[in-house]
Amino acid sequence: MHKGTTFEKLKIASFDFTCCEGCQLQLANRESTLTDFLDLLDIRNFREISSEQHNDYDIALIEGSISRPDEVERLQAIRRQAKTLVAFGTCACFGGVNSLKNRFSLNELAVEVYPGMEVETGLVKKISEVVKVDLSIPGCPVNKEEVERIVVSLVTGSQVTLPKYPVCIECKAQINTCLFDLGEICLGPITRAGCNAVCTTGKTPCLGCRGPAEEINMAAFLELVKERGLSENDLREKLAFYNAFEGLYQP
Ligand code: SF4
Ligand code: SF4
Ligand code: SF4
Repeated sequence: MHKGTTFEKLKIASFDFTCCEGCQLQLANRESTLTDFLDLLDIRNFREISSEQHNDYDIALIEGSISRPDEVERLQAIRRQAKTLVAFGTCACFGGVNSLKNRFSLNELAVEVYPGMEVETGLVKKISEVVKVDLSIPGCPVNKEEVERIVVSLVTGSQVTLPKYPVCIECKAQINTCLFDLGEICLGPITRAGCNAVCTTGKTPCLGCRGPAEEINMAAFLELVKERGLSENDLREKLAFYNAFEGLYQP
């Protein structure tokens, strides 16, 4: 954005629910752009950046998924205040790694992990299962450059866009050896780009934290895994890891 151009600052607040707070931390990182970024914002509530707390805000970033009754009430109150509610990060958009606990008996888990303690926890829900979501920014964690670009779009009132194509496009642009050719299952062909293929460039398969790309060919992807003789169990585990492909795969 050109210096000297005047825009109304966004009254923004950020709230964490069931999560690791890694997405909020991303915003406080990248010091080279932090002051320019903060210049666009009127921070009303954001405990990783400021100790001030105000209840008037227009945009609410919601980080984390929902796993307790008190979180539902808190989220509903935020929804009443916010003009734009953003599911911020994979936990918020899809349930994220927290959803793994939905596979087990919560009572048994509580006894095993917190013996002798009272634990109030329920099935993990993504934000859109509890309140209306206006905008989703996926990523575990979110990509700060993408968030900065989206915030500029919100400030200027221009359309917010995410890449529609899959991670493979970004991966190929970096001339990486495809992990399928090394005998691994990678979710790059079905996952929304925008992370610059950070995992596959580091020789780690994509686990799909950014959720499905648009117009994916799931049947062709499953056929590829089968043709290569790769493990169905590994495929199932990867697709379930962030709960981002719910409803798109029936084992
Ligand atoms: S999406 Fe990932 S980095 Fe962000 S809060 Fe959830 S677990 Fe943490
Ligand atoms: S490693 Fe993964 S992301 Fe990269 S080209 Fe192969 S399938 Fe696509
Ligand atoms: S490569 Fe896949 S798992 Fe890794 S950050 Fe990108 S979308 Fe997420």
